[in-house]
Amino acid sequence: MAEFDTDLFVIGGGSGGVRAARIAAGYGARVMIAEEYRMGGTCVIRGCVPKKLMVYASHISHEIEDAAGYGWTIPTATFDWPTLIANKDKEIARLEAIYTSNVEKSGAQVIKARAVFEDAHTLRLSDGKTIRAKYILIATGGAPNHGKAIPGIEHVISSNEVFHLSALPKRILIQGGGYIALEFACIFAGLGSDVTVVYRGDNILRGFDDDVRDHVRTEMEKNGITVLTGCTVDKVEKHGEEFTSHLSNGSSIASDKVMFAIGRHPNVANLGLEKAGVAINPKNGGVAVDEFSRTSVPNIYAIGDVTHRFNLTPVAIREGHAFADTVFGKRTAKVDHANIPTAVFTQPQVGTVGLTEAQARAQFATVDVYKTTFRPLKATLSGSESRYLMKLIVDAASDQVVGCHIVGSDAAELTQVVAIAIKMRATKADFDATIALHPTSAEELVTMRTPTARYVREAAE
Ligand code: FAD
Ligand code: NDP
Repeated sequence: MAEFDTDLFVIGGGSGGVRAARIAAGYGARVMIAEEYRMGGTCVIRGCVPKKLMVYASHISHEIEDAAGYGWTIPTATFDWPTLIANKDKEIARLEAIYTSNVEKSGAQVIKARAVFEDAHTLRLSDGKTIRAKYILIATGGAPNHGKAIPGIEHVISSNEVFHLSALPKRILIQGGGYIALEFACIFAGLGSDVTVVYRGDNILRGFDDDVRDHVRTEMEKNGITVLTGCTVDKVEKHGEEFTSHLSNGSSIASDKVMFAIGRHPNVANLGLEKAGVAINPKNGGVAVDEFSRTSVPNIYAIGDVTHRFNLTPVAIREGHAFADTVFGKRTAKVDHANIPTAVFTQPQVGTVGLTEAQARAQFATVDVYKTTFRPLKATLSGSESRYLMKLIVDAASDQVVGCHIVGSDAAELTQVVAIAIKMRATKADFDATIALHPTSAEELVTMRTPTARYVREAAE
């Protein structure tokens, strides 16, 4: 009898696990992949994809508002939430089936079960079977945090439930100032809900460039979203179908739904990690890994959100691919986590790559900032008050563009392309040498000639 039932056992059929399984199978490895919920994982089933479909739905209201100035008379538009949810669910089911069949076509075996460790080579499945694997990849992702057990926490929904509400809430309170809170605040506002964001700090999107944070907040407020900072939700009461959220500043807010989007934690609990000897990273609570995603146990690797490094789909995919290359492809590969582009699909969107102004000023002696805000051409006839922000951060000594921050329509699409230039270490002179493409908003990226500010770090005493 063979010592192992399989060469690779992947726990988790999400973005990272699926990529690793397919690539490893392509190298000829015998692969099994276990998924306890739905193939495709967070991104496909209850993350990026359904979220983006809802962003599109919501954005149509802004297009309708813009239409009149361009001569269109549109009869009063109505929106039907159940239609959106049904169509979205159909598309997600289609994608789930594609994910499953692509994995199977690669030669890997899909196991619809929860898998937990018995020891460093043995997994127990929820159907009672045990599997012995030579290598094991932990790709179990993460889950929403609920925060403190405040009174009424049972009334609060997370991003898991928000995709399945039976009706569009007329009023929604969302706690959090990060990606999910702000994306859903804009989705609901665009669809016609009255939205209040409650954030504990002094400004939303902590960690992003300060100008981006101010600009997004202003734009969201222009779109009618109330942003309350410096407070938290301390208690939620239910009265019939309505909720009252009591805030730490003494005020209270009535709404039809209360959602918390206050971060996510890696799925490490009840996995039997201790039986396998897999160590947790004390700094972030994820599975501890080295630069090759290897855990404290030589035959066990971990990738994606369960490692709590950069919780983004393309990062999980890249880490899964690099793992398969390294272990089964005889090609040592590690993921370069520098300059990962990211977008927040607020309305308007945020796109960012590289350093913020504050990070650059801490790192370099002299930093030039090129910044512009403007009303895009489209707004002239539509009458929209929405403004664009573009900001380039340059290390003056090397002339290298070390950061790019955009707030405006298509900021995410633009940032993907700028990220190539930044990854190639393009200089400001390279940007300047590029001829503008007119008329676009993006042309500002190559036409900002004079720094709006230069910061010289004072020598330490
Ligand atoms: P996951 O995709 O979470 O997959 C893990 C899988 O493991 C899950 O399917 C889970 O059911 C399964 N599992 C867990 N434990 C077990 C077990 N013991 N046995 C079997 N199966 C198990 N990222 C972006 O880049 N862009 C976006 O626009 C974006 N939007 C997002 C929106 C929302 C609302 C959320 C929540 C996340 C979003 N993300 C986005 C983040 C992105 O979804 C994650 O970074 C990505 O899915 C991580 O992939 P993963 O493979 O590590 O884990
Ligand atoms: P984020 O880390 O982006 O934001 C969490 C927010 O909740 C922060 O504003 C944080 O405040 C606040 N918070 C944390 N703990 C508490 C608490 N106990 N009480 C009150 N507020 C609290 O997490 P999200 O949940 O929005 O998203 C999780 C991750 O998923 C993201 O970080 C990202 O990696 C990924 N994602 C990516 C998307 C994309 O690429 N477009 C979209 C959605 C998710 P503070 O800043 O003060 O810590």
